[in-house]
Amino acid sequence: MTAFPTVATRTSALDRLAQFLPVAGEDYAKLRNLHQPEHDHVSRLSPYLRHRVLSESEVIDRARALHGNRADVFVAEVLWRAYWKGWLEMRPQVWRETQAGVYAGLARLDRDRDLAHTYEAACEGRTGIEGFDDWARALTTTGYMHNHQRMCFASIWIFTLHLPWELGADFFLRNLLDGDPASNTLSWRWVAGLHTPGKAYLAKSEVITSLSDGAHWPKGLATQSFVVAGPSNPVPGPCPQGGAWDRQLPTALLLHEDDLSPDWLLNAGLRPQSTAFLVAPDARSPRPVSPLIKAFLRGAVEDCSRRLGPDLSSLHGPVQGPGAVDALVAWARQTGAAQVVTPFAPVGPVAGLLASLDKRLAAENIRLIRAMRPYDAALWPHATHGFSRFHQAARHLV
Ligand SMILES: Cc1cc2nc3c(=O)[nH]c(=O)nc-3n(C[C@H](O)[C@H](O)[C@H](O)COP(=O)(O)OP(=O)(O)OC[C@H]3O[C@@H](n4cnc5c(N)ncnc54)[C@H](O)[C@@H]3O)c2cc1C
Repeated sequence: MTAFPTVATRTSALDRLAQFLPVAGEDYAKLRNLHQPEHDHVSRLSPYLRHRVLSESEVIDRARALHGNRADVFVAEVLWRAYWKGWLEMRPQVWRETQAGVYAGLARLDRDRDLAHTYEAACEGRTGIEGFDDWARALTTTGYMHNHQRMCFASIWIFTLHLPWELGADFFLRNLLDGDPASNTLSWRWVAGLHTPGKAYLAKSEVITSLSDGAHWPKGLATQSFVVAGPSNPVPGPCPQGGAWDRQLPTALLLHEDDLSPDWLLNAGLRPQSTAFLVAPDARSPRPVSPLIKAFLRGAVEDCSRRLGPDLSSLHGPVQGPGAVDALVAWARQTGAAQVVTPFAPVGPVAGLLASLDKRLAAENIRLIRAMRPYDAALWPHATHGFSRFHQAARHLV
């Protein structure tokens, strides 16, 4: 079983990228769906990309430099992340509805003992379904699950075990090192048939057996999907835009778990007089969040401080927990900054905290500037419809 680094550094991300690059062309296109114990034909870069220890642009550039258009399949997969983020930015209510669904699902478990037993067996890998149980256990011990296994896991969770999809999304979010509000929520909706109405994903036993080279023969899988109740896709609202900071004003920088490589801000001329870090792993779920995620975030923050400490000056934090917003207001006041610049946080727990912080800082006459990476600003507005329309536009923009 592949052991993921529970401590994240940019050096380990770059090492993994260098190790993977030779197979990012035709090999990836042909072999990426195989269920191999070591997952050697996929990049396993997602924990780094999720927290932007590594950026999508640099991964795309390196893959194209080596493979030219033979890297197209890999590049398309990397673009899915921006598609899901942009889609959710224009429909943030889907995140709120999903969170409400998690609470409703947990309340159902309190009322229904059979459902609660099935849920616990699914989370602990004790259902007796081959493959599914192995993937569940691998997820909780390594923080990773292969993409095709995620699709099959979600499908079995919903259509064979009849568990609420929101609880499955929550199980992933609190265990995956790459747990991401947009990619995770919207992929679960996609499997459930909510994203593309009428098109659910049904896991098939023979496909799992073939892709795992006979290692898993799951029995008793649902042979038909059913219509999963849930709100339909909302009409997209406007895509948010980033703000610009005033170079003349005293400035503080607030980094957070959604973007731990501020090089692009420093290269754009940002000179903070103080820098704070915000992490919010416990805000991912009402249930306990994996210690692997916490260790990964701790490592990534330490690594960022070590790498860029001299440019970031006067480091503070990481700030976390229920008093985080109060602590950040006190920090901002103490720095004497007139503006706090922060990388734009996409819809999710950090963006929620930043919304509260924004209001509190405004009362102190301090502006919160959400600076958007050019990659996000260029791609997100194209996520208005399905992925193929997005991809047509996006592949020429990166
Ligand atoms: C039910 C379900 C839940 C998921 N939850 C998450 C999640 O919480 N966080 C997350 O990052 N991804 C999620 N994914 C997408 C995908 O499974 C992972 O990004 C991928 O498996 C990560 O492994 P890798 O880095 O080896 O991928 P590779 O195959 O090497 O792909 C390279 C990169 O492309 C991106 N990527 C590839 N496929 C997808 C995809 N379908 N959607 C979005 N980005 C993609 C990732 O950044 C990935 O690191 C989910 C998929 C499903 C079906």
